[in-house]
Amino acid sequence: MHAVGIVAAAGSGLRLGAEQPKALVLLAGRPLVCWAVDALRAGGVPDVVVAVPAADRAAFAAALPADVVLIEGGASRTASVRAALAAVGKAADAVLVHDAARPLTPPDVVARVLVALAAGAPAVVPVLPVVDTTVVVDDDGVVTDALDREPLRRVQTPQGFDRATLVDAYGRLPEGTELTDDAAVVRTVGVTVSTVAGDERAAKVTVAHDLVLAGFQVRA
Ligand code: C5P
Repeated sequence: MHAVGIVAAAGSGLRLGAEQPKALVLLAGRPLVCWAVDALRAGGVPDVVVAVPAADRAAFAAALPADVVLIEGGASRTASVRAALAAVGKAADAVLVHDAARPLTPPDVVARVLVALAAGAPAVVPVLPVVDTTVVVDDDGVVTDALDREPLRRVQTPQGFDRATLVDAYGRLPEGTELTDDAAVVRTVGVTVSTVAGDERAAKVTVAHDLVLAGFQVRA
């Protein structure tokens, strides 16, 4: 099986309070996007396409290894992955889509996704249980319902797909649609999405505190 990686790295650093794209923010002296590319490679996915903000292409090119393919991302994560997917050749059987914002994803997570794809799953996502009580609130912040957390899962990346299945789903997704992950894209056309165990170390860096935690993780 030939799998190609896509790293979605075209987001802003707004919630992180960064002046630059989040994927260029340093963790232990290296940009998050470099850690994310390394995570895919360490897990067995050497060929990687990275979606970058158009205005920062040169900075990403300087930071990343020369054999990484750079593609201009779009206004949403969905648009960025759509653009990167167009650069994945037909020789690939599978595509793993990963967030640049998950720098410390262990290689085992990538490997578990690859194993599930090789076993014939058309789509697979790493997941973790929900450990907190989870409630629904109204516009005033008043709790209106509590969910049974037992069947709930938090979804991480990399998410793996049969390439043709993902291309078909993006092809049928109306332009401008914004979904938060790629499993949601294939589910719009009825594809079954399987799960494998995720890992707390694959946590997404969203706010400044997450970067502090990731720093501890690197040193641990
Ligand atoms: O904003 P959020 O953290 O959910 O973004 C998840 C990933 O999607 C990040 O790695 C970010 O760089 C990427 N992204 C993108 N293009 C956008 C917005 C987000 O590639 N327009």
